[in-house]
Amino acid sequence: MMKITAKPFILELKNPFGISKNLRNSTDTIIVTIECDGFCGFGEASLPPYLIENQLSVLNFIKKINPVNITYPFNFAVIHEYLDNLDHGNYAAKASIDIALHDLQGKIEQKALFQILDSNPEKMPYSAFTIGIGTPEVVIAKTKQANAFRYLKVKLGGEDDEAMIKAIRSISFKPLYIDVNEGWKEKRKALDSIFRLRDDGAKLIEQPMPVQNLAETSWLSENSPIPIIADEAFQIIDDLEKLQGVYKGVVVKLMKCGGIYPAKQIIEKSKKLDLKIMMGCMNESSCAIMAAAALAPFCNYADLDGPFLLTNNPYVDPKMGNGKIVLSKNPGLGLSSNS
Ligand code: MG
Repeated sequence: MMKITAKPFILELKNPFGISKNLRNSTDTIIVTIECDGFCGFGEASLPPYLIENQLSVLNFIKKINPVNITYPFNFAVIHEYLDNLDHGNYAAKASIDIALHDLQGKIEQKALFQILDSNPEKMPYSAFTIGIGTPEVVIAKTKQANAFRYLKVKLGGEDDEAMIKAIRSISFKPLYIDVNEGWKEKRKALDSIFRLRDDGAKLIEQPMPVQNLAETSWLSENSPIPIIADEAFQIIDDLEKLQGVYKGVVVKLMKCGGIYPAKQIIEKSKKLDLKIMMGCMNESSCAIMAAAALAPFCNYADLDGPFLLTNNPYVDPKMGNGKIVLSKNPGLGLSSNS
């Protein structure tokens, strides 16, 4: 019989994290532990303030789960159907359970998660290190922290995008992924910016305009020299078809879609629809990041820097090699405690 435990935890950030909508110093999470026959799987729900979910809603959702309904060997289609029947939404809560069960399966079967998912570590994409909106001094300091990374993800859509890029380019020539978080409001100005950014080494633009601006975004996508991909405009598998033609790709996050199993389905469907895929993250510890990283080899891009932005990651940071996350060969997520 499974035993599920959930406890609140606060991830503290090394630097205040600025996007076009807000600035914050910490992110609430729930750490989930599922025990079975002497094995123990770890999961995590990350809850940035702009999501509907919070620590209390995750704890309340997890209380509704009757462990009798989750039996090994795990059938994740059936498990997710059970979770969806308990309540709609609650994607971060569902992700925490899904991740813990995958970790548990790996430990029971003595297999690394990438083996369970049939993912090829040799196809791991480079991961990007995120630089939030800030003054040139702050931006330069953050760029210096990105030594282990070959790509930078830059948050734009603030007061002075050009000053941000200029500051980065004063010390680094790494290729850029740009994330505007819906911050640009005018399509022609946006397109001018995109051409300038392309000349400055940008490889893609994430969520340039507000989610509801479908016509403007599809015009932008048609005219942009680099792919425009959806983050805020994309959450679950049912969203994919309506984004075809508007965006060239989507950002998949375990917390948005409910975990590893739904994410893998999204990846498979995106490929059929010829949409590019970025495996992204929230502020997350090594737990959710190693879960996402095991799927990253199926994706075109990765943005999995979560643990490197924290001062209190409960687990050892993921290993980086050659600008890529190195998947653990240990059973499950391969986490080890940081204390
Ligand atoms: Mg984003």
